[in-house]
Amino acid sequence: MKFRNFKMVDYVVYGRGCFDQLDEILAPQRKADAPMVYLLDHHFENDEALKARIPVRGNDILINADVTHEPKTTYIDELSEMLKEKFGTVSGVIGIGGGSAMDLAKAVAIMMTNPGKAHDYQGWDLVKNPAVYKAGIPTLSGTGAEVSRTTVLTGPTRKLGMNSDFTPFNQIVLDPALIKNAPKNQRFYTGMDCFIHCIESLKGTFINEFSRSYGEKAQDLCEEVYLHKDEWDEESDEKLMMASFAGGMSIAYSQVGIAHTISYGLGYLLGTKHGIGNCIVFNHLHEYYPEGVETFHKMVAKNDIHIPEGITRGLTEEQFDTMINVSLGMVPLWENALGKDWQKIMTREKLRAIYEKL
Ligand code: ZN
Repeated sequence: MKFRNFKMVDYVVYGRGCFDQLDEILAPQRKADAPMVYLLDHHFENDEALKARIPVRGNDILINADVTHEPKTTYIDELSEMLKEKFGTVSGVIGIGGGSAMDLAKAVAIMMTNPGKAHDYQGWDLVKNPAVYKAGIPTLSGTGAEVSRTTVLTGPTRKLGMNSDFTPFNQIVLDPALIKNAPKNQRFYTGMDCFIHCIESLKGTFINEFSRSYGEKAQDLCEEVYLHKDEWDEESDEKLMMASFAGGMSIAYSQVGIAHTISYGLGYLLGTKHGIGNCIVFNHLHEYYPEGVETFHKMVAKNDIHIPEGITRGLTEEQFDTMINVSLGMVPLWENALGKDWQKIMTREKLRAIYEKL
């Protein structure tokens, strides 16, 4: 038995308004002539109030990160090559936004110090050199990207993260005030990503007390905000932010499961975003996670959210095969969900039938 030696985030600052401490936090990380690079989720492109609070000093640059699609390896290459050409090196990369902006920051920081192309590092423990300094600042909570050891990327042949000990952030800034303006639907889908992390972790075969202690707490927090509150308030932002953190800690020491494997197939083929993709899939997983799906349905109803259906209608044989291949390739996730003999349970036919329902 080999136990995972889990590399965690180095520093965490938490609290309403703590974003204003960023300048002070970054000061010791600054190297002469090497700028701080801020990758700001393009949804904030015109948010002058937020932009004015970002400590852009000297030759620092603020880039509007295009997160229309989840990060592609080609976009990582484009950004890191531009930065290398312009500055040689940088003091750090700071991602401000949802899961995509944070994953983008992690990947760009890694590519600043590693040769080749981003797709060379899609997989487990392939990154050779420590990244430049990197920090993550969520403006949307649920994905757990702030604590994860990976960065999910769509490459030429697969959707897979750079999973390595060099991937976690050096610093995260958890300021609940930053997530308060998230659009209702998006906040729900991303919050449900967290809820699904909890269910998949808690109901998986890899479960252990480390993961359970975080997963149960995160699930409680999700249910408090989405089921037991009538109005979204400041406390909801605080609870959801910590749910995301704890949910991420839970899966870090266990694994996600069926909704994630199937959702990755949708993401790869159709570009379906992670949060909504998980919701679309989880909606139909009653057979595997009966209690979780029942609670999910209650939360959907209570928050008056529409979960899309029929998104795989009219796809070709080849397209179904692509999704099935992407999904079945995620072996650890299936093993966690269904045990060592998962292939006997989840046949291609069975998986095809699930995809057809979505
Ligand atoms: Zn997820």
